[in-house]
Amino acid sequence: MTPPHPETWLTPMPAGLYCAPGGFFIDPLRPVDRAVITHAHSDHARPGHEAVLATPPTLALMRARLGHGAGATQQPLAWGERIRINDVTVWLEPAGHVLGSAQVAIEYRGSRAVVSGDYKRQPDLTCAPFTPIPCDVFVTEATFALPVFRHPPASGEIAKLLDSVGLFPERTHVVGCYSLGKTQRLIALLRQAGWHDPIYMHGALAPMCDIYEAYGIKLGDLRPATVAAKKDLVGRIVLAPPSAIADRWARRLAEPVVCMASGWMRVRQRAKQGGVELPLVISDHADWDDLNRTIDEVGAPEIWITHGSEDALIHHLAQRNLRGRALRLIGYGDEDDPAPPGGAA
Ligand SMILES: [Zn+2]
Ligand SMILES: [Zn+2]
Repeated sequence: MTPPHPETWLTPMPAGLYCAPGGFFIDPLRPVDRAVITHAHSDHARPGHEAVLATPPTLALMRARLGHGAGATQQPLAWGERIRINDVTVWLEPAGHVLGSAQVAIEYRGSRAVVSGDYKRQPDLTCAPFTPIPCDVFVTEATFALPVFRHPPASGEIAKLLDSVGLFPERTHVVGCYSLGKTQRLIALLRQAGWHDPIYMHGALAPMCDIYEAYGIKLGDLRPATVAAKKDLVGRIVLAPPSAIADRWARRLAEPVVCMASGWMRVRQRAKQGGVELPLVISDHADWDDLNRTIDEVGAPEIWITHGSEDALIHHLAQRNLRGRALRLIGYGDEDDPAPPGGAA
């Protein structure tokens, strides 16, 4: 018997991508009975589901962020462990995006779909690396799916930051970064580059760091920036949410050098608009080359795109005789790399 095409058993609905023979949604956009969650960013891990299945770190991050909203019942699933949910088999493999981030592999009567959630291929010391899974349909994000987006190695961007700290020892470098993923990756990159001084943080970033530490990711000497005296922050690196770097909070710092770590920093105009003096092109999403390399590696004849710049990718896939399908799921747009205003993505 020919295996059923995934189109017949995996369906985009207003509440998200639904697997009928399994009876669950993946990263549902509204509260549902049964949810499989790829990772804990707020656009994927929403509050109010009855049963939630995810990796143990994702569940821990969800509990920290959502409290009682993290799911009435939570089921942890280890990497590669296969379970049966109604008529399908499900397992999780690393997506390399943030701590605990998973791709969801689903098999139904010999047909296999993989839902990647958000992912990246660049090395990241703070989470398990992306593992390609051969499949019939690969469901991908397309946040940076334009040839203009080529993320440079993160180590080079960190070198730029440390050079600037060396050049301006009387100033405080304040780096805008999102609380889950980007913050911890930046800290790990700084440590890897030999920066062992204390790193100061806005209060909003600390809780997520605690969970990373609990999962064995060593972040070194971290201190709160909000209570520190201005003079103590001279020559220091301070991390803060992007919303804080341009406002009064940052102006309390000593002649701040405003930096921002994001894939969008590739777009000069975007950095300028945000008042960013030192843009750092560091992203937790696959760039154009890595999206295409990943599509090659999973070998799927058909690619479904959840969100992002789908047009360029679908056009490029067609030239390679691959079918691209835009799911146009409304409500994703990563917490860690939100699309710029005006839809310049
Ligand atoms: Zn994400
Ligand atoms: Zn996302």
